Amino acid sequence: MIKTLKGKISVLFLSLVLLIAVVGITASINLFNLSGAIDGLMIANYKSINAASKMTEAIERQDSAALTYINVDVKKGRELFTANNEEFLKWYEVDVNNVTEKGERDLVQSLKSSYTNYVNLFLDLQEIRSRSGVEAANEFYNSKMTPEFINTKEDLRKLSLINEKAMFESKDLATENAKKSMYLVLGISLFAIVGGYAISRFFTNRFLQPITILTQTMKLIKAGELNKQADIQTRDEIGELSTEFNNMTRRLQQYEQSTLGQLLIEKNKSLAIVKSISDPMIVLDTDYRIILVNNAFERIFSVAEDVFLNRHFLEGVRNGEVFDFISSTFKSGDETQQKIFFISRNSGNYYFNVIVTTVKDSNANLSGMIVLFQNVTQLKEVEKIRTDFIATISHEFKTPLTSIIMGTDVLQEEGMGQLNADQKQFIQAIREDSERLSKLVNDLLELTRIESGKAVFKFEEYAIDDIIECAVKPFYQLAQQQEKNLYFSCEDDIPHVVADFEKITWVLNNLISNALKYTEIGDEIVINAEEKAGMIYITVKDSGRGIPKEFTDKIFDKFVQVKDGDFEARGTGLGLAVVKEIIEAHNGEIWCESELDVGSSFIFTLNIAGKEQNR
Ligand code: ADP
Repeated sequence: MIKTLKGKISVLFLSLVLLIAVVGITASINLFNLSGAIDGLMIANYKSINAASKMTEAIERQDSAALTYINVDVKKGRELFTANNEEFLKWYEVDVNNVTEKGERDLVQSLKSSYTNYVNLFLDLQEIRSRSGVEAANEFYNSKMTPEFINTKEDLRKLSLINEKAMFESKDLATENAKKSMYLVLGISLFAIVGGYAISRFFTNRFLQPITILTQTMKLIKAGELNKQADIQTRDEIGELSTEFNNMTRRLQQYEQSTLGQLLIEKNKSLAIVKSISDPMIVLDTDYRIILVNNAFERIFSVAEDVFLNRHFLEGVRNGEVFDFISSTFKSGDETQQKIFFISRNSGNYYFNVIVTTVKDSNANLSGMIVLFQNVTQLKEVEKIRTDFIATISHEFKTPLTSIIMGTDVLQEEGMGQLNADQKQFIQAIREDSERLSKLVNDLLELTRIESGKAVFKFEEYAIDDIIECAVKPFYQLAQQQEKNLYFSCEDDIPHVVADFEKITWVLNNLISNALKYTEIGDEIVINAEEKAGMIYITVKDSGRGIPKEFTDKIFDKFVQVKDGDFEARGTGLGLAVVKEIIEAHNGEIWCESELDVGSSFIFTLNIAGKEQNR
C-alpha cells in the first residue's frame, strides 16, 4: 500500500506511461510483422518468377541452339546448347530452393523430368544427325524434341503463374493483415485513452476528495462550528495535514470553551455587582438607548428592565436636564463628568450626583455610557441642617457682636470716661477680635446663603471697568497709607459682562483686601481686565509673599489658611470660599497662580454679554 501522495501520483503517471508503452509496442510489433510477412512472401515468389523467366529464356536459346546444331554449325550449336543448359540448371537450382507454394514442388519435379527428357533428346539428336543426316535430325527435332520443349515451357509457364498468383494472394493477405493491425492498434489506443482517462479520473478524485472534505470542514469551522472534524482516513501528506488540522480545531474549541466559560462567569459576576449596587445605574448605547438597568434604578425610577430595554433614555427617566448633561458629556469626549440634580419621583424627592462615564471600545471609539445616580439626598439634608444651623448661629451672633463693636467704639472714644494706655490697648484688642468675628459671621452667612440657593443674583449687563472702578476706589487711600501701589488697567472697548454688580464688587474687595493683607511696604497691586477666547479675564496681581504651590488650589476651600512658618493667619479663611461660590454662580472660573516671595495672581472669568453659557 502506497502511503505518500507523491507515491500515489507517481503510480498514476506510471500506469499512464505503461498504457502508452503498450500501445506503442503493439503498434510497432504489428508493423514489423506486417512488413516481414510482405517481404518474405513477395521476395520468395518474385525469385521463383524470375527463375522461371530465366529458365524460359535459356531453354528458348537451347531450342535455337538445337536448330543451329542441325542446320548450321554443329560445334556452335552444341556449345550454345551446353552453355544454356548450365544457365537453365543454375536458375533451376534457385527455384528448387525457393519452393513456397502449394503444388510448386510437383511442378518443379515435372519441370525437372521434362527438361531432363529434353536434354536427353538433344543427345539423341546428335547421334541421329551424325548417323542419319540433317533430314532425319530435323524429323527427330520436330517430332520428339519440340513437344518436350513445349512441355518444359508449359511447366515453366505454370511455375510462373503459380508464383504470380501467390504474389497477388500475398498482397491481399498483407492488405488484410495491415487492416487487422490497424484495427488492433486503434482498439488498443482506444482502450488506452478510455483506461487512461478512467485511471486519471479515479485517482484524481481519490486524491482530491480529502482536500474537498478539508475545505468544507474549514468553511464550517469558519462559520463557528468548532466541533467539526475533518474525516480523512488516508495516511498520506493530506491525511497528516488533516490530523494536525483536527488537533488545532480541538485546541481552539477547548480554548474557546474555556475562554467563553470564563467570560460568562466574569460577565455574570460583573452583572451581579452592577445589579446589586445600591445607587441607581443605567448603561446607554451611543444612541442613548437603555441597554442595562440595575435593581435600584428599577425601584427608584419605577421602571422594569424588560420594558425599557432598548428604549430611549428619556422614555425611562423623563428628565431633560439630566439628558442634556449626559449628551453634553458624551459630545465633550470627557471620560467622566458629574453634577448634582434634584429629581422628584413617585418614590420620593432625591438629590442625585449624576456621574456619567463614557465607555470606549478597543479602537478608542465611544461605544456607550454608564450613568450612575449617586443618591446624595441624605448628605444634602445633613448639609441643609448644617447650613441652617450655621445661618441661625451666625444670625444670633450678629446682634450681640454689633453691640460689642458699638460698645468698644464708645469706650475708645472715651465716652464712658478717660482710659489709661493699658485699658486702651485692651479695648483695641477686643475691638479687633470682635470685628474679625463679625466678618466671619458675615462671610458664613453669605456662604450659607449662596450654598443653600437662597442668595439672589441680579445678573445684568455692565462695563467691567465700572465694577472694578467701584471696587478699587475705597482701597486707594488705604494702599497709600500702607505705602503700597495700587493700579487698575483695562483694555479699551472691552465688551460688557453679565454679572451681579454687588457680588462681583464684593469678590474684588476680598481679593484686593487679601492682596493688601499679604504684601509689604513698597509692593504693587495691579488689577487688570482683558478679553480672551470669548471671555473676560480679571486679574488681581500682587508682588507680595506668594502662596506655597500645594496651597494654590486648597485656599479656595473653607477655613483654609496658609499658616506656614512666618505666615500668621490674619483672616477667617472663608473669603476665598465665598469668592469661588460667587464666580461659579456666574458660570465663571477662578484660580490662583503664585510664586513664593514673588507674588500671587488671582484670575477669574466672566461671560461676555450676549454669549452667556447656561446658568
Ligand atoms: P482670609 O480671611 O484668611 O484671608 P481667605 O479665604 O480670603 O481667608 O484666604 C485664605 C488664605 O489664602 C489666607 O489665609 C492666605 O493664607 C491666603 N491668601 C489669600 N490671598 C493671598 C494673597 N494675595 N497673598 C498671599 N496669600 C493669600
